[in-house]
Amino acid sequence: MAAPTHRLPTNRGCLLAVALACSGDVACAPSDEVFETQQLDVRPGEEICGGTLVSLDEESSRISQTIRLEWSSRLQFGFGEELVADECMGAGEIEEVAGCARGFGGDTEVFADLFSSSHELVHGLRRMHGLRGPPFFSEGLAELVGSRRPFSAQVLVVDASAVVRGPAELAFDVEVSEEHYRLGAHFLAWLSDREGEDAVMAFLRDPTFELEPPEPVAVADAFRVHFGDDLVAADQQWRSTASVRYDRGQWCAEDNWLDPDATEIVVAGDFDFAASDTLGPPGLHHLPSCLALSEPATLRVDIDVDELDVNIGLIGCPDGAGTGAAFHDKFVEAGTGPQELEFGACQWWIRIGNPQGVSGPYRLTLTRDPM
Ligand SMILES: [Zn+2]
Repeated sequence: MAAPTHRLPTNRGCLLAVALACSGDVACAPSDEVFETQQLDVRPGEEICGGTLVSLDEESSRISQTIRLEWSSRLQFGFGEELVADECMGAGEIEEVAGCARGFGGDTEVFADLFSSSHELVHGLRRMHGLRGPPFFSEGLAELVGSRRPFSAQVLVVDASAVVRGPAELAFDVEVSEEHYRLGAHFLAWLSDREGEDAVMAFLRDPTFELEPPEPVAVADAFRVHFGDDLVAADQQWRSTASVRYDRGQWCAEDNWLDPDATEIVVAGDFDFAASDTLGPPGLHHLPSCLALSEPATLRVDIDVDELDVNIGLIGCPDGAGTGAAFHDKFVEAGTGPQELEFGACQWWIRIGNPQGVSGPYRLTLTRDPM
C-alpha cells in the first residue's frame, strides 16, 4: 500500500501542519509517510524533525540557482542514515557511504542524511538532466556547492604545488577515488575565480562528458572549447597558486554573529519544532551562531537547560591556528554544568544540540575572566 502523502504547506508559520497539527510541541514527524515539498518527494527512513523539510527545500532552490539547472520534476529523496545504509552500500562494500544518487531523468533518486543531503542534491539535479560526468568534476562540484551544509560553509585548502596527480590526469579517471572530492572542488573553485561561475557551470553541462563509454579526448576538447586553453596548461597554472584557501558559503547568517566585546556573550534561542532553524535527526540541532575573538580568552560556558549540549568548532584564525587546547574544537555534554574553556584569537561556530528533543527557550552564556 502506498504511504500517505503530505504536501508541505507554504505558510512558514505552520510547517508540517498535517503531520504535526501545528502543535509546535512535537519534535519529529513519523517515518512511514511521504512528504511532498516544492522540489522533493521525501521518504524518511527514520523520523524527520523540526524544520528539516523546509531546509531541504531551501537547499534545493539554492543549488538549482548555483549550478544553473531547473528542477524539472520532484526528485525522489530517501532520507536518513538507515536508508543510506540499505540503499547505497553495494554487496561486499565495507566502506562507509554518506549518501548516493542513481538513475537519470524522472527516475532519478537520491539517498542522504542531514549532513550529506546538499551534496547528493547536486548529483540528483544533474542526473535529472542526464548529467553525470567524470568523477573529478561531478564529485568536485557536489563538494564545492553542497558540502557541509546546512551547518557550515565549505573551506577548501589544497597545497596544489605538492599534488602528484593533478586535474590533467584526474579528469580522465572513470572510477571514483577520494582525491576527486577535495582536489576537484579546489580546482573548480580556482577555475570559477578565473573564468566566472557561469562559464564553469556551462562547461560542466557539456554533453560530451556523457559519452558512453567515456571519451577522454572529448573532455579535453570541451575544456579547450569553453576556456580557450588546455587542461595541462590549466593544471600547471593551478599548481602555481599553491595553497590558496577558498571559502564557499557562510558559516553564520549576519544576525547570528555574536558581539565579541560583550562581558557576557549570550546565545538565546528557542527550540520550536515548527521552525526552520531546528533540524534533525540525528538528535535536534539549531543552526550555529558565530564568534570572532580578537584576543585569546578563557570563557565560562554555561547553558541553562540541562538536556542541551554545546558544540563549538574552529572556523579559522587570522594568523593560522596554533597548537594546544585553545585551538581545539569543544564539546560540552548535556548536564555537565558550566565549564571554563580556552579560546584562541579565532573565529568559532557554536551549535546547540538537543539530543532528547525538549522544547522551549534556552540561554547560553560565555563569560570572560570569571572572578
Ligand atoms: Zn558524491
